[in-house]
Formats: sequence, C-alpha cells, structure tokens
Amino acid sequence: MALTRSAFDQYMVPNYAPAAFVPVRGAGSRVWDQDGREYIDFSGGIAVNALGHCHPALVKALTEQAGRLWHVSNVFTNEPALALAEKLVNATFADKVFFCNSGAEANEAALKLARRAAIERFGEQKHKVLSTLNSFHGRTFFTVTVGGQPKYSDGFGPKPQGIAYFEYNNLDSLKALIDDDTACVIVEPIQGEGGVLPASAEFLQGVRELCDKHNAFLIFDEVQTGMGRSGSLFAYQEYGVVPDILSSAKSLGGGFPIGAMLTTSDIARHLVAGTHGTTYGGNPLACAVAGAVFDVVNDPAVLAGVKAKHQLYVNGLQKLNAATPVFSEVRGMGLLIGAVLSEAYAGRAKDILNLAAEEGLMILMAGPNVVRFAPSLVVEDADIAEGLVRLGRALQRFVG
Ligand code: PLP
Repeated sequence: MALTRSAFDQYMVPNYAPAAFVPVRGAGSRVWDQDGREYIDFSGGIAVNALGHCHPALVKALTEQAGRLWHVSNVFTNEPALALAEKLVNATFADKVFFCNSGAEANEAALKLARRAAIERFGEQKHKVLSTLNSFHGRTFFTVTVGGQPKYSDGFGPKPQGIAYFEYNNLDSLKALIDDDTACVIVEPIQGEGGVLPASAEFLQGVRELCDKHNAFLIFDEVQTGMGRSGSLFAYQEYGVVPDILSSAKSLGGGFPIGAMLTTSDIARHLVAGTHGTTYGGNPLACAVAGAVFDVVNDPAVLAGVKAKHQLYVNGLQKLNAATPVFSEVRGMGLLIGAVLSEAYAGRAKDILNLAAEEGLMILMAGPNVVRFAPSLVVEDADIAEGLVRLGRALQRFVG
C-alpha cells in the first residue's frame, strides 16, 4: 500500500506542515507527485537545488562516487573533499575550508571559530557576537539564538549568552553596540528567511570598517546567497566587501547535504586538532556532488544566465502585478527574489503558496508578507514563462 501525506501526521514529529501533495520524481525544474501531477519548481528545495532535479552531471558524480567510497570519517581525509576544498580556496578570499553537513553547522563553526580566535588573541572578555534583527542562521541553539528572531529561539530555556542585535541596513544601530569586546559581527548579504532583503553596499562596507576598527571578525552567512545564486559565486564578490569567515551550504551541494566554513589561514590556525569537528564533515559522497555543482556553476556563462533570468522574473512579476496588483515591491538579487505583498494583502503569502500549488507551481514564502522564488540557477526560460503563467492564474484566484 502506498504511503500518502496522512502518514506524515501518523509517523513524523509535527514540527513541519508539508504541502498536501507528495513529490516522487523530478527532472530539471519539473516535479511530479504521487498522482502523476506535474509542477514547475520555483522553490528549489529552499534555494538548494542549484541545478534543478537530477542534473546529469550530479547524478554521474554521485553514482560514480557511490561505487567507489562512501565514508571514512575525519580520521582519514579523502580525495573528493580535498578537490572541493581546493576549488573553493582558488575561487574565493579563503585559504582554508571546514566541511560539515548543513548551514546551521557551518554557522556554528564560524561563530565558534570567531569567538575562539578573539578570545585567544585578546582575552576572555572578547566574546560578544553581534547579529542583525530578523536574521536567520540555523536551528542549533547557538545559531538560532544568534538569529534575530525570538519566535524561533524562545521556549527552550536559558540561551547562549553574549549576543546582541542591531538593525539591518542601519550602521548607526551597529555603531551603538560594537566595541573592543566584540568578537564578531555576522550578516547575511541578503536577508533570506527575513524577507529577501538585500543589504546596501554602503551598509556592508560600513560593517567591514567597524569590524576592522574594533578587531572584530566579519562573518558573512552565505548559506542562502552563495554558490551562484546572486549572479556571482558568492554575494560578497557582487558587493566587493570581503568577510573574514564565510558560511556556505544549500546550493553548495545542489540537494546533497553539505555545509562549509571558509576562512583565512591566519584565523583558521585557532581551530587546532580536537577543537571542533563532525563525523560526516567532508563526506566523499557529499563532496563529490558539490564538486560537480561547483564545476557547472562557476562558469561565467552560467553566472551571467542567473542575472539574465533575474530580469525575466522581475519583468514577468511586474507584468503580473499590473494585471493583479498585490505586490508593493519586487526585490532581491540573481535568482533569490522576493515579491512583497502590499498592505491590503499583508500576512497572506501562504494563501498564494497554496493556490500556486493547486495551479502546478511550487514557490516559497519568506515570512508572512513575502512570496519568494529560489529556482534552479539553470531553470529554462520556457519554464520561467510557464511558471509565471501558473502564478498569474493563482493570483487571479487570490484577488478574485
Ligand atoms: N543561514 C541562512 C542564511 C539560511 O537561509 C539558512 C536556512 O534557511 C540557514 C543558515 C540554516 O541552514 P540549514 O537549514 O541547512 O541548517
């Protein structure tokens, strides 16, 4: 007997509320459910499936590695991990890479490294972590507390200490908090979960300067913005502001779980053997797939395609909005796009998601007021066009 959506309620911890249909197969930017219904996927598994579903290069990398070596732990190193680390180092500011399995773990490593390095250099008092309000950095207790959304971190008892929050895109708000006891400042170049809100270049530049002034490390959380989504390999390259530590995950593995923390040799030396780790970090299967993702994405033509497709989305959304005015703003960068609901429809992004699914379109929200698009970086232009037609039908029903 086939398992259906109701089995979720029977067997799974109720911390998610998945859609009514169950996807069983995907190819490119199309997905099919248990009933054979077809969907266009503009959600990309929450900005993860950088090359869509079952991309031939990734299937090849995974199956070849599956026949060779699955796992050895960090008691041994392995070739796919070394190859991926080399690619990341050659393409970024970083000299060193730490692999883990998720965005939260990459940020956990980044925050622990920043505190450790600051404390070892300046003393125990230099441990303050500054983070932006309405940010999202993962769900471990440290990262969820650093994320400036109490609704996610409240209710679990005493929180990790030494964390304070400033306003995104507001340098004065950071100036009021930062001092010589600040170990690090963590920022998303575009707030993803918080509403697809891009930082201004002046803000990121100013944060960099304040960090330098106070010997604080600058961490860019590029879990959502990274690996081509902005139109550059990482969004910091788009802004021209270089962090000290960078976290990556999501698109890095194209759907295979992997995270990475990137940093310089000078900072990395503070994580000596035994100070941090994870059993699966640098797993050969994950690194083989991520290496294949990297090879496809780190190509000027693909990255230029991300920018061209951004324009297709923006133009298409503006056209839809002229017919059914529900959005006050379309914002974002590359293929991370947010359509902000106007006052009259505030809080109703979920309704649009549900109607879109009924019309055969998978989309996301970023908070209750923003409809989010995070499709494959190589989504076909024809799929963008057809998906927007389906969104148009959903919006007609939404306003109707
Ligand atoms: N950081 C950012 C900016 C994210 O958007 C997310 C996930 O949405 C995370 C961290 C957490 O990543 P993960 O869910 O892989 O732990």
